[in-house]
Amino acid sequence: MKAQFFRPLNNAATSAGRNALNALMPAQCPLSGEAVTTPGELGPQGWARLHFIEEPFCGSCGIPFSAEYGEGVLCPSCIAYPPIYDRARAAIVYNDAATAFVSGFKFNDHTEYADMLGRWMARAGRLFLNKDALIIPVPLHWRRLMMRRFNQSALLARPIGNLTGAQVLLRGLKRIRATPPQKETTSLEARRRNVAGAFAVADKYREKIDGASIVVIDDVLTTGATVAACTRALKAAGASQVNVLVLARVVKGGGGAI
Ligand SMILES: [Zn+2]
Repeated sequence: MKAQFFRPLNNAATSAGRNALNALMPAQCPLSGEAVTTPGELGPQGWARLHFIEEPFCGSCGIPFSAEYGEGVLCPSCIAYPPIYDRARAAIVYNDAATAFVSGFKFNDHTEYADMLGRWMARAGRLFLNKDALIIPVPLHWRRLMMRRFNQSALLARPIGNLTGAQVLLRGLKRIRATPPQKETTSLEARRRNVAGAFAVADKYREKIDGASIVVIDDVLTTGATVAACTRALKAAGASQVNVLVLARVVKGGGGAI
C-alpha cells in the first residue's frame, strides 16, 4: 500500500525535475533534433522532412495527383468505389517524419503539438470547415482510452474548433464495441469487417446531428475503413454531409502522388 501511495508522488517529482531540466536545455525540433528557439517549434530540417498535401488532388478522397487533371477530377479508386463520406482531406503525407510525429503524439504524451497540428488540419479542411459545421473526433473504446489516457483525435479536434468556430462534439460518436487496432489488420476487407458496426451516434446528440454538416477528425487515414464506419453511423442518424479531416494520409509509395 505504501509503495503504491508514494509512486504518483515520485512520478510527479520526476516529471517536475525533468521539466526544470528541459527549461535549462536548448529547445529541440521534435522531428530533427536540431536546436530551435521556442519549445514546440520545428527547425528547418524538421520542416523539410514533412510533405504537405497541396492541390492537385482527388476531389473526393484527397489523394495527391502528380499532374493537374482539372478541378473536381476523381482518382480511379473513387470512380470505381465511391467513398461513403463526401470528401476527405489530409494535412500531410504519412511518411517517416509523420510516423515519428504521430506515434510520439499518440504514445509519448507529446500533446503540446496539438495546436500546431490542428492549424495544419484547419487549413487542409478549409473547404468544409465553418461555424455551422459540427466537428466529431473518431472515438476510442473506453478501455483503450484508459490505457492511453487521451484520445489523439479529440486533442486535434479542439484547436480546429477554436480556429474555425465550428462546434466540437467530443462525444458525438461512441464506440459500441472494442476492435483490435487497425494496424494489426492488413487487407481492406478485413479492416472493413473489423470496424463494421463499431460506432454509433450518441443519443444525446441525435437531434443536433440530424441534418447537420459533420467533419470527422482522425489522426491517420489508411484505407478509410474506420472513417467509413463513422460516416455510416452519422448518415444513418440524418447527417446531411460527412467530411473527413485527418492529420496524415497514407499515399502508396510513401512520399509522392499518383
Ligand atoms: Zn480519390
